[in-house]
Amino acid sequence: EQTMLVSVRVARLGARFVLIVVEDRTEAHRLDEVRRDFIANISHELKTPIASVGLLAEALGEAADEPAQVQRFAGRLEVEAQRLARITGEIIELSKLQAKDALRPDTIVRIDEVVAAAVDQNRVVAQAKDIDVAVRGAKRAEVYGDRALLAVAVHNLIANAIAYSNEGGRVGVGVSTKKGAVEISVTDQGVGMAADELDRVFERFYRVDQARSRNTGGTGLGLSIVKHTVQNHGGDVRVWSQPGRGSTFTIRLPLAAAVEPQDQEGQPPASIDP
Ligand code: ADP
Repeated sequence: EQTMLVSVRVARLGARFVLIVVEDRTEAHRLDEVRRDFIANISHELKTPIASVGLLAEALGEAADEPAQVQRFAGRLEVEAQRLARITGEIIELSKLQAKDALRPDTIVRIDEVVAAAVDQNRVVAQAKDIDVAVRGAKRAEVYGDRALLAVAVHNLIANAIAYSNEGGRVGVGVSTKKGAVEISVTDQGVGMAADELDRVFERFYRVDQARSRNTGGTGLGLSIVKHTVQNHGGDVRVWSQPGRGSTFTIRLPLAAAVEPQDQEGQPPASIDP
């Protein structure tokens, strides 16, 4: 069901005319809701680790003359502190991304290099699960944008592919260019997702399975960061997935060569025609 929200203003122009201004406020209202939800979610996400830190500090105080207990509580404090740091760090990244309009196309970024670096960063985690990460067709591909942001986006997809794979699984990362765009695809043969979840995975804090992804240390912000980064670069991200068979996430970005030359004002990158 679709509701439209309008604001109506009426002004009398002389004796014979009335001016009626009807403004569609649906989008503004939706954004307000999104903002409210976001803050509610943040509070919820922070509550648990903050409560844990409090309890652990208390327990630590009481266990002062039992070194083994002190060790245990201190270790858990560290884990909770890391979790808090990760959540706040990702929230900050995300709010920066949302504050930004499309990025100015002033820096050339080699996507093939970004992908190779992201694979490298995930190597240790992959090895710990005996997962093979194979890169195909990493040819030279250049886009305009922010290298650090793009690196985080690609990193998040590869980290997820590993996190939601079983031991000994395979992850494939592909880079290809066509029709003025570069496509980066990350495929796994892991747990996959049901069709009705696919629309929601890019939402902030959304996790298909709370318990499972808490175990993987996830915050539910990774894919939201991917989506915003890619959109800020004039691209898009899609997902294909089937429960038990695995998932493929594909990022598409306009190639630098396909973007209009920049004028004085700094035009945003051209978006891709579907
Ligand atoms: P998280 O930090 O929990 O991984 P993300 O935003 O990265 O958060 O992902 C949101 C949710 O989407 C995850 O909790 C997980 O349920 C699902 N998901 C993401 N990537 C995959 C994947 N490759 N395979 C299966 N499920 C995935």
